[in-house]
Amino acid sequence: MDDAFFHPVSGFDLPRFAGIPTFMRLPHVALDDPQLSQVQIGLIGAPWDGGTTNRPGPRHAPRQLRDMSTMIRAENGATGVRPFERRRCADLGDVAPNPADLADSMTRMTRFYERVRAAGITPLTAGGDHLCSLPILRALAADGSLGMIHFDSHTDLFHSYFGGTMYTHGTPFRRAVEEGLLDPHRVVQIGIRGTAYDREDREFAESVGIRVIAIEEFFDRGVADVMAEARRIVGDAPTYVSYDIDFIDPAFAPGTGTPEIGGPNSYQALQVVRALKGMNIAGADLVEVSPPFDPSGGTAYLGASIMFEMLCIMAQDG
Ligand code: MN
Ligand code: MN
Repeated sequence: MDDAFFHPVSGFDLPRFAGIPTFMRLPHVALDDPQLSQVQIGLIGAPWDGGTTNRPGPRHAPRQLRDMSTMIRAENGATGVRPFERRRCADLGDVAPNPADLADSMTRMTRFYERVRAAGITPLTAGGDHLCSLPILRALAADGSLGMIHFDSHTDLFHSYFGGTMYTHGTPFRRAVEEGLLDPHRVVQIGIRGTAYDREDREFAESVGIRVIAIEEFFDRGVADVMAEARRIVGDAPTYVSYDIDFIDPAFAPGTGTPEIGGPNSYQALQVVRALKGMNIAGADLVEVSPPFDPSGGTAYLGASIMFEMLCIMAQDG
């Protein structure tokens, strides 16, 4: 596969600091463009943080991630993979949320991803806060539950917030299990740490069979061993990959709303993605980058780099 239209703009044709930024300098293909049927992997912005309970800002992330992603070159220096020569990739633009209406925003997101899925495109999303994953899963799991590998310092498995609010960035995977979008026996959460209000989320995980790998176990065992277990848990069936930037230590990723100390470094942040090679990936996201807390752009650059690693994995399967 070598289709020139879908190649990123080369830094030899136009310097990387020039031009209109799309994800990784790919062509922008809107959902009603005739080229859509050619796209295999779609990079999508979800500029929505309506589920944020503490420090807001991820609604601004897709724009900053696009900007910093212009730093990305064609070849993965560690693996040698050239994803844009293996798959036709495009920037499908942003989902249009309704910033004043949470339910309407989720409906709009699900409709968008239904169209992406109907076109046979595997989505790689730049959030947005972590509630974005729920309306995406509603579209991708329409024909059956998915497995999930989830990198985060939080489980996002809480039942509710402030007494009865069911939809926040702390609840998406509780809802996803309840709605049958995720098979809890094929879900593994990695990197969990930090202070908590209570253990209600962990008790739920235990009760339904979700495997939680806390940060202490992650560091005791190491990346290779932990990721080998994660791979066994999800198996060969379709699996979603959800990556919250706060999985990474705030020394490396300070630009996020709910940082937790004592996490992986930026190298380990990439290693865990490289360990996903060969998986059956139904979609992936990178969420919770918060530009208001990221004045250097360093967190967004790390986020864009993780998206590139995920893209390399998605371009290698099959
Ligand atoms: Mn999260
Ligand atoms: Mn988190």
